[in-house]
Order: sequence, then structure tokens, then C-alpha cells
Amino acid sequence: MSERVSGATPAVATGADLHVHSEWSWDAVDGSMEESCRLAIAAGLKAVAFTEHADYSALAGGAELDAVGYLECLDRCRRKFPALKVWSGVELGEPHRFPLRAGDLLAAGRFDLVLGAAHCIEAPGGLMDLSQLANSDRDSPDAIMRAYFQELLDLLHGQVEFHVLAHLEYPKRYWPAGWPPYRTQDYRAELQAVLAAAVERGVVLELNTSAGIDPIRGLCPSPEVVGWWRQAGGRAVSLGSDAHRPDRLGAGFRVAREVLEGAGLVASDVRWGLWTEPFFKP
Ligand SMILES: [Zn+2]
Ligand SMILES: [Zn+2]
Repeated sequence: MSERVSGATPAVATGADLHVHSEWSWDAVDGSMEESCRLAIAAGLKAVAFTEHADYSALAGGAELDAVGYLECLDRCRRKFPALKVWSGVELGEPHRFPLRAGDLLAAGRFDLVLGAAHCIEAPGGLMDLSQLANSDRDSPDAIMRAYFQELLDLLHGQVEFHVLAHLEYPKRYWPAGWPPYRTQDYRAELQAVLAAAVERGVVLELNTSAGIDPIRGLCPSPEVVGWWRQAGGRAVSLGSDAHRPDRLGAGFRVAREVLEGAGLVASDVRWGLWTEPFFKP
């Protein structure tokens, strides 16, 4: 059952959803920026960031973002919903592999928030889309995860600027039922290496809630990773639902709040949607 937002949902009564897709993302066939804004206001959210996909990996079935059309739509929504802060954004898939195209997009657009993501990994025969993991019989879980962590390190060492590291542990969303269960602890060293690189780079870790209410898939990353982030020196976490439909806005925020509070973080009243150490001003 999906956790829907409503005016009576105290879990999302304040703050922002910093990872939302609309009809401007190639894979959000049921997306609607306008309806998302309407529901965000009804839920009491102060702000929403529309972080549309810009995927250049052809094998992912991806597509470029129509930045002009997207920004026009965003401006219309800003005028129509003055009570809501509507941030522009983009989710770059493997931008380190396509630095010129990603750089051109960032230079041409006015993006308040840039997410860096790895949806694809190196595999025999070319890039492999991790959302198709269940259809793959080419590799073992360990080989998949090794390639995934390498992709993240390449992203974090790449030249394209971004603000937020999106949905760490992404492969677990698509973990095949026939494999041994995914366990965060099995990849502690690799995850901590990624977190250290993210701290070094100065990006913010995202807590992605899209599957947060599913006890098997869970939050991305898992709660213990948020604890490791704090130990590594990470001082802020960005909260986003990764909604691809308006009625998924804020889904999973209730469970995420408990994790963030447990990690000693508070909702920033300076940067809506960020959770930070008390008194920390990012
Ligand atoms: Zn993504
Ligand atoms: Zn996304």
C-alpha cells in the first residue's frame, strides 16, 4: 500500500521534497508538475525540487532533458502556485561518462539543485541498466556491486559539478529475488569509501524514500549508512521521495524522519529539505 500525502499527514507538514520527477522526465509517464505542486501545498510542503532525468547512456533507454520546455513549465507553476517554492533541478545519470553534454546542459539551464546518480554500470558488452538487474544472468551480485561502487567513485571524482549524491545502494531496489538477500553490512568498506569521497567532494548525501515503506527494499541508503555518513564527517542529508507520480510525493518521509532524527540531524529552517546538525548552516 502506498503512503499517500494528505493535508493530515504530519510527517510531511514541514520541509521539502528534493527529488521529484514530472512529465519532463522520460520515465515519468504519469508525471505532472502542476498536479505535484497542488498536492505539495495540500500536504503542507514548503518547497519541491523537480529533478528531471538527463540520461545520456543509450542502453538505459534514456534521453536528454528538454531544458527549454521544462523551464517554461516550471515558470508557469511558480506563477500559479506562489505559496510553494518551486526549485529547478536535474538528475544527471553517469555525467562523468558524458562530461561535455552534461556540462552544456548545466550551462544552458538554470538549475537550483543538481543530483548525481549512477543508474548504469560497466558490464561485458557495454553499459548495463541496473533497473534491468532481474533480467541479467551475466554476473554475480558481488561483480554487480563492485562495478556499481566503482561507478560512484568515478562520478565523485568526475569533473561535472553536482550537489547531491542520489540514492546510494540503488541496486537493491532491483535485487533479483533468486539472489541471496542484499545486506548493507556485506559492503561496509565499499560504502564507507564512497561516503569518504562524497565528504571530500563536498556533496550532500541523499536519503531516497521511494521504496522506504517496503521492508525488503527499504530506504536508499539503509539507515546504518546514514550513521556511517555522520561518522565520515557528513553534516547534511537531503530528503527526497523520487516520486514519478504526483501521489507519490513525500512517500516514505515518515520512516525517514525517524532515521534522520536518530542520526542526530534536524530539519534545516535555512535550507528546506536538508537535514543537518543543529545550528549547522550549509
Ligand atoms: Zn535515479
Ligand atoms: Zn530520480
